[in-house]
Amino acid sequence: NKQVILKRYPEGLPKEDDMEVISTAAIKLKLPDGYGGILVKNLYLSCDPFQRTLMRHVPPSAGSAFHFYATDSPLFGYGVGKVLDSGHPDFKQGDLVWGITTWEEYALLPKPQTLIKILHTDVPLSYYAGILGMPGMTAYAGFYKICNPKKGENVFISAAAGAIGQLVGQFAKLSGCYVVGSAGSKEKVKLLKEKLGFDDAFNYKEEKDLKASLKRCFPEGIDIYFENVGGKTLEAVLLNMRQFGRIAVCGMISQYNIDEEEGVRNLMQLVSKRVRMEGFNCLDHLHKYSEYLDFVLPHIRQGKFVYVEDIAHGLDSAPSALVGLFLGRNVGKQLIHLSD
Ligand code: NDP
Repeated sequence: NKQVILKRYPEGLPKEDDMEVISTAAIKLKLPDGYGGILVKNLYLSCDPFQRTLMRHVPPSAGSAFHFYATDSPLFGYGVGKVLDSGHPDFKQGDLVWGITTWEEYALLPKPQTLIKILHTDVPLSYYAGILGMPGMTAYAGFYKICNPKKGENVFISAAAGAIGQLVGQFAKLSGCYVVGSAGSKEKVKLLKEKLGFDDAFNYKEEKDLKASLKRCFPEGIDIYFENVGGKTLEAVLLNMRQFGRIAVCGMISQYNIDEEEGVRNLMQLVSKRVRMEGFNCLDHLHKYSEYLDFVLPHIRQGKFVYVEDIAHGLDSAPSALVGLFLGRNVGKQLIHLSD
């Protein structure tokens, strides 16, 4: 059974050799009698920015359900898998599931409560690590529940060509908004404009003055900012917000590889423009998953939503795929395909 383990806690930008792919003893494909968990064969693993925030030396605290990674143990994260054996009443052999799994070929999951059974298989299975999984729920909750979009509003999205950003853009277009995204390469900008239906897009790495870039894209200001990156982008956005604008703070990837967060300037804009800035966690919205499926599946089936995936192959490619998120190498949702 191959695994991806954390070899050491990264300093700054994570490096491939902070992780190691190792082979352990073959796993028994039958669970011992009385075992209450399940055995899953992982088919797809999802690379997510939050995994970097777990690569810190924080000892488990009593009563906390939240775990950081331990060195010499496999990483964990979202994935799609097939149940090979189950001692849990909610799952049976052959079920397809998505949710939290460990980064190895075969995962023994003692508490499978975080897994959700896959009921619709007429769409690609990999989607359950993206548009039909956690990133999809995050885009849905963040855009519809936090931003309260109205037709005709101006929407700006950072990390727009990523797992979540590409969806928020398409949701915003569906709501009749004017949508602009920023991303870190020419290829991504082209993708946003030509494939994902954004009205406009720019490469933030090539812009000298982000405040002026946003003014150019939004002469009348931004009503909704879907925040994925933080830092200088947020400072420039604050200066371009309109009265009663909303900022959904989904994440701030520019801050994940530094020990102490940078300060943010221009926060007084929130007061003078009556802007609401609200953080959210997709886990608080998981109970709306079936509502989300009812919304998104018909659009997928009718080809109205496009979902761009960046698929690496095999566990050996996992460290590089994960590190790539922080270098902007992924175009669309970064996945690792392990098996069909
Ligand atoms: P992406 O697929 O967008 O991948 C990350 C992208 O971030 C990279 O491709 C890169 O794109 C960009 N990036 C990396 N480093 C920087 C940097 N220093 N400054 C600016 N951009 C950078 O990731 P996701 O869509 O999965 O996640 C987007 C955000 O959502 C993250 O902040 C994540 O933590 C957050 N999140 C929040 C959740 C919640 O419940 N609140 C749940 C899941 C994710 P580029 O080429 O454009 O630079």
